[in-house]
Amino acid sequence: MRVVMIGPPGAGKGTQGALIAEHFDIPRIVVGDLLRDHVARRTDLGRVADGYLGRGELVPDELMLCIVRQALMAARAAGGGYVFDGVPRAMAQARAAYAIAAELGMTANAAGHLRADDNELTRRLPGRAALEHRTDDTEAVIRHRLELYQKATQPIIAWYAQRGILVSVDAMRQAGEVGREIRTALELLPAPTGPVIVRRPVDLSGLGAGCAS
Ligand code: AMP
Repeated sequence: MRVVMIGPPGAGKGTQGALIAEHFDIPRIVVGDLLRDHVARRTDLGRVADGYLGRGELVPDELMLCIVRQALMAARAAGGGYVFDGVPRAMAQARAAYAIAAELGMTANAAGHLRADDNELTRRLPGRAALEHRTDDTEAVIRHRLELYQKATQPIIAWYAQRGILVSVDAMRQAGEVGREIRTALELLPAPTGPVIVRRPVDLSGLGAGCAS
């Protein structure tokens, strides 16, 4: 199973991605967490990414695609499955990431789309800021991230639909209910093609190293 999660900030990509990863026993790559970890550790990548995260802007594609390549190679070595949370965020990034995945025989066979409206999200996100100590869940940055989602990220959904991999669910319900609906839909999809599958432990801790140089 190879899944990319897509949805506005606060729709539950993290929660649902984790449920999918556990159910299908596949690694979960959370790009936002990875970037925040680099920022906290003051790595070269973290120093470059810091300002973008604080403003709610997209980190440049060059860096993101370097991380995507490393993550896909790690996932391939670990058995071929993955859940990607946070990539892609814009059409050009989606096409470039697809090209890398195609080269590695690792294109997604499902896109898990979480639908939620802005009112619900602006209600949920400040609570998350308090819980997770995220600096980008302030009101002004939240508004900007939602706008960026509408403008840059949302167009990718139609592309997934054309590719026949879109699984779209109403995310404004209990997490367990949303999770059951996605899982059922994913189980009905054709399995991904390509060489597979011996499960090996996956070490994602080094991801991003060297990407900023
Ligand atoms: P997230 O935790 O997924 O909401 O991501 C937090 C922040 O990390 C975003 O607001 C961006 O600054 C950055 N980020 C995450 N994923 C990407 C991506 N695919 N492309 C560019 N920037 C990203």
